[in-house]
Amino acid sequence: MTSGERPRITVLPPEVAARIAAGEVIERPASIVKELVENALDAGAGHIEVEIDGGGIDRIRVRDDGHGIPPEQVADAFERHATSKLRSEHDLFAVRTLGFRGEALASIAAAADVDLTSRTSGEEAAAVAHLRDGRLERLGSAAAAPGTTVEARDLFVALPARRRFLRTARAETRAVADTIAVIALAYPEVAFRLLADGRLVLSTPGTGDPRDAIAAVHGADVAAALVPVSATRRDEETGATAEVAGLIGPPSLHRGSRAYLHLVANGRTIGARSIAYAIEQGYAGLIPAGRHPVALVRITVPPDQIDVNVHPTKAEVRFRHERLVYATVADAIRQALAGSATPLAPMPIALPGTLAGWSEADEAPARPMDGRDVIAGARPASMLTASSITSTPSEPAARSTAAGGADGAREQAGLGISARLPMLRAIGQIELTYLIAEAPDGMYLVDQHAAHERVLYEQVLTARRAGIPAAQPLLEAVVTPLSAPQAALAIAEADALAELGWGIDPTDGAAVILRAIPATLAGRDAAAALRDYLDRMDAEERLTGPDRAAASLACRAAVMAGDRLDGEQQRALLRSLEACATPHTCPHGRPTMLHLSREALERSFGRR
Ligand code: ADP
Ligand code: MG
Repeated sequence: MTSGERPRITVLPPEVAARIAAGEVIERPASIVKELVENALDAGAGHIEVEIDGGGIDRIRVRDDGHGIPPEQVADAFERHATSKLRSEHDLFAVRTLGFRGEALASIAAAADVDLTSRTSGEEAAAVAHLRDGRLERLGSAAAAPGTTVEARDLFVALPARRRFLRTARAETRAVADTIAVIALAYPEVAFRLLADGRLVLSTPGTGDPRDAIAAVHGADVAAALVPVSATRRDEETGATAEVAGLIGPPSLHRGSRAYLHLVANGRTIGARSIAYAIEQGYAGLIPAGRHPVALVRITVPPDQIDVNVHPTKAEVRFRHERLVYATVADAIRQALAGSATPLAPMPIALPGTLAGWSEADEAPARPMDGRDVIAGARPASMLTASSITSTPSEPAARSTAAGGADGAREQAGLGISARLPMLRAIGQIELTYLIAEAPDGMYLVDQHAAHERVLYEQVLTARRAGIPAAQPLLEAVVTPLSAPQAALAIAEADALAELGWGIDPTDGAAVILRAIPATLAGRDAAAALRDYLDRMDAEERLTGPDRAAASLACRAAVMAGDRLDGEQQRALLRSLEACATPHTCPHGRPTMLHLSREALERSFGRR
């Protein structure tokens, strides 16, 4: 702004301010569903039914049998900062309800057209309110059962910029299913139902037993395998207390993503990383690296020991005594797992410059060389047949037999990666995880899983480019039960999956009909392969679209750390790797190998 015409500072008109504030709370249909379901829970509902059309963009309806809103208060409920849940600033430090800001209904009304019908048990008729553009247009009454129904239509029609940010209806449906699944796990005493475009996506029985809720969300097999955990701690100095109760999976029940790790604090679903870490630590050495446990852990602390007012959508909380909570969770997990299994073969191979532990990158399964643990009682490498790792259909990449010292810059303490791959001669396998190979320019240590992943990934991409059908039809279609979020993912990504050979039809409920599987996975338990594959894909955040699906497939089909490879299989894998266009990294960018050059060897032994 030049020439002195700097705009005056003015207070925004209330409609504009409302729109801006609404954007903080209401990002997408799942945020509306979350707020409405939380209101229903705060009203003491025992049954909550959510219906969405078009991913919730067209219509969301949440119906509960809670205590309702008295007719004279209905209009107030839509005022900004109007709440029945807080009286004074003091209450903010001991919130017992999910809502407390009094913003949700006002924000939803600013983002969509809203109809509310609500009846308390003391009233004969229900109060009805109709809002448009955030303004109350009509108040009336009608016959209805006690409880509250809120319907929101045409989300963000008045906010085209925000509407453009919405994803496809399928993706939004999936986000809604995820939202309800995690809330339902936190409230096993409440019966939830989710219908998307008239199709039943999820329904929990509301028996009060968390195991029943888990069965509805993640399937009966998962639920049946879980064991109870509990622990209580009290800090003598501060008087602070923490109580932990829940259900966790045995080490044999591990999954490819963190989507099965649920944390609830005082009835709120939370994402607290440090606490999730406490749980994963309990499993360290018991489940393979890159795999994640299944757990539903409920934490209870006195209301004044948790700050819920730290995040606009209330997605995060802060514990006043975080270390106490951490220690209590760790206790509970440790006790439950004590004696549950012998640790996996330890001895991580320490290498310079490797990262272990928790990091952003750690979100993706399979970490870099953090000492990838070896699975005790190694599985036979039956799936690694010579045919599954023959060389790629692509032209072998140019080979260099004289990579030698040309890439000293990339060497690190004698361990470096040469720019191109020479011919490799297999020497053997160590830790059932790495292949040792010799080449004219020194020694190579190859991560068998990462390498096979790279090989399969290039094969999948090549086959896709060539239009070769990669599907293996099943003799008989299999009805495959999935978790509700998995089913939503399968349907949302049906096209990318079909390109890779997955033949999937939707069904009513948390299952799909599996007609074909990718040829690479032929011979496996089809249903298990699909479940694992979807988890893998869910965790695959760095890649998008078809590449994401391809990388997931490569990862699922690849030999794992812990698979024994015989000499022929080792040679086949190395040959295929030599033929890869980008042999040094797996599809996720992690290294497939380390190179110890002849020069480095000689230097190390004082030979030069
Ligand atoms: P908050 O939940 O933070 O109080 P909301 O805008 O979500 O704010 O709701 C405003 C008020 O409307 C609530 O405090 C509550 O009194 C009432 N209300 C909203 N939804 C329901 C419901 N489903 N059942 C009963 N009362 C409700
Ligand atoms: Mg609310």
